[in-house]
Formats: sequence, C-alpha cells, structure tokens
Amino acid sequence: MKGILALKIRKLHCRRQKGEQPRLMRTQVYAGEALARYGFPGGHPFSTHRFGAFYKEFEKRNLARRTTVVEPANGDTDLLRSFHNEAYVSLVRQNSDRGFGLLDRGDTPAFAGCFEAALTVCATALAATEVIMAGETEAAFVPIAGLHHARRNMAGGFCIFNDAGIVIEKLFAEYDLKRIAYVDIDAHHGDGVYYEFEDQPGLIFADMHQQYIYPGTGDADETGTGEAAGTKLNIPMRAHSNDADFDRGWAQVLDHLKAHKPEFIILQCGADSIAGDPITQMEYSPASFLRAGKDLARFASEFAGGRLLALGGGGYNLTNIGLGWNNVIEGVLSA
Ligand SMILES: [Zn+2]
Repeated sequence: MKGILALKIRKLHCRRQKGEQPRLMRTQVYAGEALARYGFPGGHPFSTHRFGAFYKEFEKRNLARRTTVVEPANGDTDLLRSFHNEAYVSLVRQNSDRGFGLLDRGDTPAFAGCFEAALTVCATALAATEVIMAGETEAAFVPIAGLHHARRNMAGGFCIFNDAGIVIEKLFAEYDLKRIAYVDIDAHHGDGVYYEFEDQPGLIFADMHQQYIYPGTGDADETGTGEAAGTKLNIPMRAHSNDADFDRGWAQVLDHLKAHKPEFIILQCGADSIAGDPITQMEYSPASFLRAGKDLARFASEFAGGRLLALGGGGYNLTNIGLGWNNVIEGVLSA
C-alpha cells in the first residue's frame, strides 16, 4: 500500500509541475424521493416508478462515483410566475388540494399534491441552472424534469408546469444571456417550449419527434416567426425511425447549433423515442442517447463555456428510462 500511495503522490506532483489541474467532476445529478412524487396514479404511464427506474440503473453503473449527487430543491411559488400565468397557477393549486380535476383538455388529471410535486421539479431544474451559471459545475442532469408540453396557461400531455420554460425565462431575465439552445429528442414535439418562444429570436430550438402522434405539431416549416424566423428547427421523424435515422437528424441539429452559437444548452432527452415504448413507435437504441450527451457536452465545451442542462423528459418503458437517461450522463462524462 505504501508503494502505491507514494506512486500516486509522485504522479500528482508531476501533473502539478506541468501546470495541469486534476480533472474535476463536471456533472451534477439531482436525485431524491421528492422528484419521484411527480407521477400520476391509477396505472397512468407517467407513474411514480419512473424516478426509481432511473436511479436503480444509476446505482448499478456506479455513476455516483463519477458525478456529484444533489438532493432535489424546494422552491417558492413565485418561480412559476416567470412562465405561467396567475390564473393557471391558482387552478393547479386548487385542484391539487382537492385531489381531482383536469388541468388541460383531457390528458393531464390533477392528483393530490400535484402542485407541490410539480413545483419541486421546476425548483430543481432552476437550482441546477443556478449552479451551472455560478460555475460550480459544467453539466447537470435532472430526471423527471423536461415537462415540455405545459403552456403558460394550461397543462398538456402529462406536463403540469414547464420547467424548461421557467429556466429559459430566468436565463434571459436574470443572467442576460442572448442565445439559449433547447434541444429535444423526446418522441413527442416540445410544443410548450416551441409555441411559447416561437417569436423569441434568442431561443435556438431543435426538436426531433415522431410525426402524427401527440401533440401533432412541429412541422418542418415551423421555423419561428417574425424576428425569430430561422432560429427554430423541427424535424418530424417517421414511425420506426432507428439509430441511422437519428444520426441523419442529429447532424442537422448540430449544424443548427453551430450556426447560432448558443451560450447555454438545454437537452430534453425523453426516453420514449427508444424502441419498446408503450405509447410511441420510435426505434432508436440507447446508443443514440449516449451520442446526444457526448456531442452536446463537447459542443457546450467549445461554444457555451461547458454549460449543459439535461432534463429527463418522457419515457414510459421503465427499462428504457434507466438505459436512456444514464447513457446521456455517461455520454457527458465521456465527452
Ligand atoms: Zn414524450
């Protein structure tokens, strides 16, 4: 043991002599029971088992040794108001206290405590953003977040509050960023982000999604409006698209990012685009998720000061959640 220790110290000494710093852990992962509470009861595909499915695989791969694991954050109701309007925030609180009621036109029922559970998801995504902006980490991963269908005034597709939208508003308003990228590889179009920032030129949007399924939006000709024309990229993918199809779309996503040079990158990595999801017909393998994490971490290092926030997003096959999300983390770590 003495010999090994001496060798390690000698190696460290050599590195310092060359002026190199030891590689710091660059990724924070938010994990805790409070995130698991965002899930719908009664056999709903967006169940409370999703966080556990992620974390079981995270532990199996021993990723806590290569990342910093952080507890979910608590937040004040005020943080919701940067994106959502007051009437909608009140409606969610009311139905959450009652334990029933619809929050949109049919997909998203209230459950008891849904207000607090959704607030925790948003507060955690925001906490991760603040830590990245403070330079305390380069990348962060928040499972369960990435609730990309929620609009300012209503829920949508199992999404009550739009954590990505809240983060984007915060980055524009308080950090004075001019260009923020939102990249979305979930099987469903990120309509809540797209339409709420459709005319905002600073939001660089790139979304690959299965065409003709919920929410039915995201045509290729939807490229942004007004001053924002050309800042948005929508890539509708055919059902049964595989890794080769992913690679073709992904090349366009990377070109789009290169053209606009964002200062901060958000990835919504919904695992429902991996083969075997019960509610979509996409057929990527988890390898595409490794690639997404790796390429965006490299891109972030080159152009965006390393700033990358990955949000879990959808995914209703529990095995795929574990494989896809942890592959994104491993991709970031291997960049
Ligand atoms: Zn989805």
